[in-house]
Amino acid sequence: MQMPQPKGASRGLIVIISGPSGSGKTTICSQLLKDLDMVWSISVTTREPRPNEKSGVDYTFLSEEAFEQWVARNKLVEHAQVFGHWYGTPREPLERALREGMLYLMEVDVVGGESVRRAFPDDCVYIFVKPLSFAVLKERFECRRADTPEQIARGLKRFKEEMQHADRYDWEVVNDDLTEAVEEVKKLIRQTQERRGAQ
Ligand code: ADP
Ligand code: 5GP
Repeated sequence: MQMPQPKGASRGLIVIISGPSGSGKTTICSQLLKDLDMVWSISVTTREPRPNEKSGVDYTFLSEEAFEQWVARNKLVEHAQVFGHWYGTPREPLERALREGMLYLMEVDVVGGESVRRAFPDDCVYIFVKPLSFAVLKERFECRRADTPEQIARGLKRFKEEMQHADRYDWEVVNDDLTEAVEEVKKLIRQTQERRGAQ
């Protein structure tokens, strides 16, 4: 259940960054966190950490049993299975950020993004990041060292399915030049804050 929120500019804003795997969501989010005062949503997941990832920083890594307990205790706003692993958005930090008037940055898959928007319809800006083309996506996947050939094939296969969600988002940002894409996202955040402040 959504907690009552104060009306107007003092309410926080959930910035949902979604889109196909490999489109550059993580890269854009890292830059936003450097440039703006935002709270990063640390998801919980049952997948194994990648070599450069730390629990409690990139994700909170959980066993399947622990994840089930989080679900049973209603500690997640949404959860979904992506590529055979479970992912979920913890409820408490998100609600706290909204109460405290913060920008809350989330990177989720398309299903998770839609669930968060349903749960907090007045508190989200919903941004879909897409690559310039399928060829560019393929190239970026191949450059991302952390992926195995199986993961690359799976990500590319899911691309068309994920792209079908694009028109349900408030905004689309093409991640061609990274600096331009980040600036575009910042502009959308600013515009949303101004619009809400004026209400
Ligand atoms: P996602 O989080 O959507 O799966 P990543 O942020 O991991 O995607 O990006 C996939 C790969 O593409 C990474 O190797 C990243 O460094 C690279 N990348 C992201 N954005 C750009 C860009 N604008 N130009 C060139 N390479 C990029
Ligand atoms: P990765 O394992 O590559 O970090 O992420 C795989 C997919 O899971 C990505 O599409 C990412 O956006 C998504 N994801 C990450 N965290 C969450 C979450 O909390 N909920 C949902 N539904 N998807 C998530």
